[in-house]
Amino acid sequence: MAIKNDKKNGKGILEKTLERLAKRRKAPVYVFVLLLLLYLASAIIVRLTAGSQDVVMLGGNPLYIYTFAGVFSSVSNLCVVLMVIFCGKLGYIISVIVLLGQFPMMLVGILHGNLSSLPGFFANALTLIVVVVIYLTNRKIEEYQHKMQEQATTDVLTGLPNGFASSALINELIRRNSPFSNATININNFKIINDTMGFEIGNKVLLEISSKWRKIADEGLSGTLDFVSRINGDEFSLVVRGYDSIEDVEKTIKKYESVLEEKMLIDGYEVFVNASFGYAAFPLDATEFDTLINYSVAAMKEIKRINSSEHILRFTPELLKDKKSLVIDNKVRYALENDMIGFNLQPQYDMSHKLRGFEALARMKDNEGNSISPVEFIPAAERLGMIDSLDLMVYRKSAIFIGELIRETGSDITLSINASVKHLMKSGFAQEIRSLLEDSGIPPKQLEIEITESILIESAEKAADCLNELKDMGIRIAIDDFGTGYSSLSYLNSFPSDILKIDKSFIDKMNDSDSSEKYVEAIISLAHVLDLEVIAEGVEEPEQLKTLSNIHCDYIQGFIWGKPLTQDEAEKLLTESGL
Ligand code: C2E
Ligand code: CA
Ligand code: CA
Repeated sequence: MAIKNDKKNGKGILEKTLERLAKRRKAPVYVFVLLLLLYLASAIIVRLTAGSQDVVMLGGNPLYIYTFAGVFSSVSNLCVVLMVIFCGKLGYIISVIVLLGQFPMMLVGILHGNLSSLPGFFANALTLIVVVVIYLTNRKIEEYQHKMQEQATTDVLTGLPNGFASSALINELIRRNSPFSNATININNFKIINDTMGFEIGNKVLLEISSKWRKIADEGLSGTLDFVSRINGDEFSLVVRGYDSIEDVEKTIKKYESVLEEKMLIDGYEVFVNASFGYAAFPLDATEFDTLINYSVAAMKEIKRINSSEHILRFTPELLKDKKSLVIDNKVRYALENDMIGFNLQPQYDMSHKLRGFEALARMKDNEGNSISPVEFIPAAERLGMIDSLDLMVYRKSAIFIGELIRETGSDITLSINASVKHLMKSGFAQEIRSLLEDSGIPPKQLEIEITESILIESAEKAADCLNELKDMGIRIAIDDFGTGYSSLSYLNSFPSDILKIDKSFIDKMNDSDSSEKYVEAIISLAHVLDLEVIAEGVEEPEQLKTLSNIHCDYIQGFIWGKPLTQDEAEKLLTESGL
């Protein structure tokens, strides 16, 4: 078994660990010393009192001193029994030595006609028997425990250590802060072998691979200290220790990979296999058990996914990003296919707290009901080329809702919708908006399309045509997140825009210094010169509100007066406002 490889370190770390976990704890050394001293003291007292004819008075009654000999003889016997119970092999050896050591003296006494030693002689013999029986029974229990322990840590099919053993070793190495790397290994296309050749051959393949790997680990052929185990099915783990650099780990793993290159002859079949190896190092890549395992699994899955001629990969943080975005991508795809994109409406107000309208903000939950932030799912939809479907879902739902409200109340509120530039650039955007207006019945001047400043500038020329067409329809254009891009007002002048939304980051800084406030004031004045209205985004504090009012901002949108609302809440707000 690969555990044997640990011989280089004396007794295997794993064995020691498992023993530590499974075994009854032995008493500390000082208990052994105390028992031994107590035994010696009792034995001396017995010797001094046994032959004495002196008498002491106890509660007015005379008592022969030699009667104490019996009491202390029992104490000394009890000491040796306790030693063998609690102090393991050492306790046993010392007990036997001291018990046997007493016999010659007792025998000499008996042979000289001193029969008072006779009860002591029998008590000593009896104690010796008890000590031997206890020791042998304990040994049997320990052997049984050892067997159980071995069974619990061995994989039945391959005889390699199993996942439990591997986890115990990894946890112990982490506890000792001893550097190591863990490689998660998965046999490629093992399912095909099982499906086409049957389980029996599949098992033999696993056995063959295991015996090749065991040989490397047991004989130390890789130059490092290795521990190979089978986790389950076609998944193995390789713990590598005793290396100088991470390159050594890679070399070791290559050694395990290289033995797979030889073809295997199994029941007359020629079988070729290869495997994917993903690894992560402790403490370089991760310092906790779960993280380390997850990282090596992530690296293994990635190298398997790439399907290249390379089969070994070390974990890098980029893998997590890919994994995370893959999860989000799948959720977005699912939500779009199942019409699960909803929207909230965040109110916008003028400075006198009169409702101006609402901005529709996309909302998405995954199928477990967890909300996902637009900051995550909007870029995912863009990556997947699905942003136009997502935008349209929000446009349709919010426009139909607001269109109905406008019809019912006759209100002149505005609906603002967000357009991703990727969507805006697609031919047919203007047509989509045209049919949106028709289907929802929203008057064009009450529909506003928000386009982010930074992206708009990058694609200025292409965007301008589309924006002009929208403008011709009577729709309003808002420049969103102003301040996050070039903040170039003169540039914006070339766009047919109507309103500027100052980004929250500017509003946040505004009251920190005089110059920040002056900057926002300048933006507002310039915007007004360019005939643009201004909305301040992300207003949270009364101080900000006061300043914005003083510097002639037109509108605000922020948690101070309204968080994004559900449809019912938005309807209630509109009805209550009496607009
Ligand atoms: P945005 O267009 O700048 O929308 C405003 C964001 O600021 C919203 O976040 C809103 O909830 C948040 N917000 C508003 N007031 C406050 C405030 O006082 N304090 C704080 N801390 N936050 C405030 P949300 O809903 O997470 O949206 C994030 C971004 O996702 C939006 O930023 C927009 O760029 C994008 N987005 C949302 N819906 C859509 C959509 O239907 N289509 C497209 N293409 N993008 C969308
Ligand atoms: Ca927006
Ligand atoms: Ca914004």
